[in-house]
Amino acid sequence: MAHVVVVGGGVGGLATAARLAQSGYRVTLLEQRAQLGGRVSELRRDGFRFDTGPTLLMMLDPLEKLFRDLHRRLEDYLQPVLLTPSYRVFYADATRFDSSPCIAHMVREIAHKISPAEVPGYLRLMADLSAMLHEVVPAFVRRNYRSPLDLLGARQIALLVKHRLLANLYRRIRRYASDTRLQMLFTFQTMYLGLSPLEAPWVYGILTYMESGEGVWFPRGGMYQLVRALERVAQEEGVQIRTGERVEQVLVEANRAKGVRLASGEEVRAEVVVLNTDVPTAYAKLLPPTRQQQRRWRNSCSALVFCIGYEGQMPALLHHNVHFCADFERNLREIFVQKIVPEEPSFYTCLSVRTEPSDAPEGCENLYVLVPVPNRSGEDAHAVADEVLEKVLYRLEREAGLQRERVRFVERITPADWEAMGLWQGAAFGLSHDFFQSTCFRPSNRAPFEGVYFVGASTVPGNGIPMVLISAELVQQRICEEVGLPRGKG
Ligand SMILES: Cc1cc2nc3c(=O)[nH]c(=O)nc-3n(C[C@H](O)[C@H](O)[C@H](O)COP(=O)(O)OP(=O)(O)OC[C@H]3O[C@@H](n4cnc5c(N)ncnc54)[C@H](O)[C@@H]3O)c2cc1C
Repeated sequence: MAHVVVVGGGVGGLATAARLAQSGYRVTLLEQRAQLGGRVSELRRDGFRFDTGPTLLMMLDPLEKLFRDLHRRLEDYLQPVLLTPSYRVFYADATRFDSSPCIAHMVREIAHKISPAEVPGYLRLMADLSAMLHEVVPAFVRRNYRSPLDLLGARQIALLVKHRLLANLYRRIRRYASDTRLQMLFTFQTMYLGLSPLEAPWVYGILTYMESGEGVWFPRGGMYQLVRALERVAQEEGVQIRTGERVEQVLVEANRAKGVRLASGEEVRAEVVVLNTDVPTAYAKLLPPTRQQQRRWRNSCSALVFCIGYEGQMPALLHHNVHFCADFERNLREIFVQKIVPEEPSFYTCLSVRTEPSDAPEGCENLYVLVPVPNRSGEDAHAVADEVLEKVLYRLEREAGLQRERVRFVERITPADWEAMGLWQGAAFGLSHDFFQSTCFRPSNRAPFEGVYFVGASTVPGNGIPMVLISAELVQQRICEEVGLPRGKG
């Protein structure tokens, strides 16, 4: 039986391991940290629980497909709850807007808080984005590219033209919304990819639809339950999971994978190695030299995360909240062009205690704050984390009645921590998604060595839990085609 080693126990590594074991391979997963999940991680302190990475579960389809493909029911492993409203937006002009996947709710909210004249544009936007999502995903996202020519198929060209996929998102949104608050609301989602909405192509409007059309979900017990569900299913499929095992080198002989060497010196022999690590880091540190090492990668932005134990209640805040600064465009230019920590940051807050009361002690709240900042090729956000926190707290005092003396503790995660996790330049969202790092131009899931593959956010199709789960589908398909199915599974 062919032996596959999966390096890294992030969502991508776990899903791939389970899929390949189900296909009949013998699979060993090696994770460097004590805890599985990679960026999907949790922190527990003094009775508080925080998800420290992803907090929004969107586009359930790839997750449901994973469990279907493994002949299981998702609901036996995970209980996702739809949040309505999805989140509250705090604008600098004091408007509070509750965004929801419910059309009736949104129509009312837009008419009352913005203008009735904006309602038809919102309805057209949802219809156009829905059509785009359902055509773009099978044609561009759920596919293994073999060459840039794959983009030039008749169907692909027809879709590029029909949906104007490469038009500028920030400019095109004006055809649907004339109020700047709505323009911000319907474009900021590209920040989930660490990409500026000012520079993003229209195709990334599918993120807006994933959120405003299909809704935001939260697994009962927290985002980390997703990792527990994937770990359980992988183990049931027979995957051997070893944590605390850092891989130092992929062993390659005559251009073919032979296994991996661990930091302990142990060698684990395998015919196939799947790397769930960041791709630039893998080329720089784990694989023999190739031309890929010389490639000048462009990275996404990074994030300052604060996990705050708060003794008291801030009822103005929902489970998810977005706080826009007065000059959003300046904010974006600071992060993505000037690469400096924003003077007046926009940020996101999450209180999972709203849905999961056990996430904080009685009478307390678990306040998670995420501030987009430049990656480590720019200003060092680690050095100014306290100043940024000060600005966030000041704004929350005004918007949510936060009282500083009620802050019990603050835990910080800075770009330096993301870098220590193996993310190049501390880019929390990995490789950027500009045109030449998307679709067939994104690093392939096949390394230039036989038997070496990639899965995860920095290979195809891209960043975010749904895309990483699709990445696991794609790499399984490729391995089964190229390596062949183990005997008895054909
Ligand atoms: C702050 C933040 C917020 C986010 N919010 C959202 C959100 O709300 N919704 C969403 O869908 N996505 C969100 N994302 C993105 C999402 O977290 C990622 O796309 C996804 O988790 C990446 O999974 P992965 O499997 O590709 O890699 P990772 O999670 O990075 O896992 C890689 C694993 O490989 C291990 N590893 C690395 N090198 C080695 C080695 N040499 N040996 C052994 N093991 C190794 C690492 O320890 C890690 O466990 C967020 C990301 C961040 C950072």
